[in-house]
Amino acid sequence: MWSETQHRDASGSGAILGIDIGGTKLAAGVVSRAGEVRSYLRQPTPHNVDAEGLLAVVVALAERALGDAGVSVDAAGVGCGGPLLYPEGIVSPLHIPAWRGYPLRERLAAALALPAVLDNDAKAFALGEARFGAGRGSRCLLGMIVSTGVGGGIVLDGRLLHGTSGNAGHIGHVTVAADGPLCPCGAHGCVTAYASGTGLAARAHATLAAGESSALAALPEDAITGRAIVAAAAAGDALARRLLDDAAHALAVGIAAAAHLLDLDRVVIGGGLAQAGDLLLEPLRRALPSHTRLAFLRGLEVRPAALGLEAGVIGAASLVME
Ligand SMILES: [Zn+2]
Repeated sequence: MWSETQHRDASGSGAILGIDIGGTKLAAGVVSRAGEVRSYLRQPTPHNVDAEGLLAVVVALAERALGDAGVSVDAAGVGCGGPLLYPEGIVSPLHIPAWRGYPLRERLAAALALPAVLDNDAKAFALGEARFGAGRGSRCLLGMIVSTGVGGGIVLDGRLLHGTSGNAGHIGHVTVAADGPLCPCGAHGCVTAYASGTGLAARAHATLAAGESSALAALPEDAITGRAIVAAAAAGDALARRLLDDAAHALAVGIAAAAHLLDLDRVVIGGGLAQAGDLLLEPLRRALPSHTRLAFLRGLEVRPAALGLEAGVIGAASLVME
């Protein structure tokens, strides 16, 4: 276990420990206040451990990242999958059943002997991209993670928007088709129902069950994932292409709703499905203008995320800079 003194003696650089906790991977790194990554480590999220066992894995990863960086650290910023209570940092991540109502912020702060800020991972992503990535120079930014789910965060004049309960930015559950498919949240026609990995897979299953032919039909049922649909679309499969077009259109309609409400000037899109690149972004950019007709939205830009794999850790560290 590191002591508080060890963290603060090194060079007085005031760097920040960033920790990114998701259902499939954990990452930790030390980030300078200029956004430079001094160390970075990641590993799969273990699922055969209890709440305290998982905490121990996160702490060990963070301590290795601190050791690798060899600079002093003032605080820890933590991005975690929701739902969670902000600013308390009590988490019940959808994809981490070991933690239910778990006081993660307090436990990490004690174990690492550092003050800690914990927030939703998509909000952290938006803040990191706004400060150091594809959102630089933007006045009002929506950052979106398009992955297993669809998450988001809003950064207005350099400040992260929290909302009443800390949940501002939930673009994934903006309704884009009132009579659309059922979303895991219980509502119909959310952006998530079309554009998330889970939503894409569910729509592919339904279409294949109705008898449509596609290269996807040759895959075992549980291999039809968002990633597999992107790969099939890249190989020219017509059904996969149409599903991605629908996803792009749902994203465009959701973005248009947010853009009108908030007077956005930029949207930054990251996450696993954003790896589809132009297969997703090109139809999105084509659809957006027909839903954003007012003159004040003429400058609205959609850009891919710029911080790559380290975006989560940089975003988590950025929470401390707020
Ligand atoms: Zn929903």
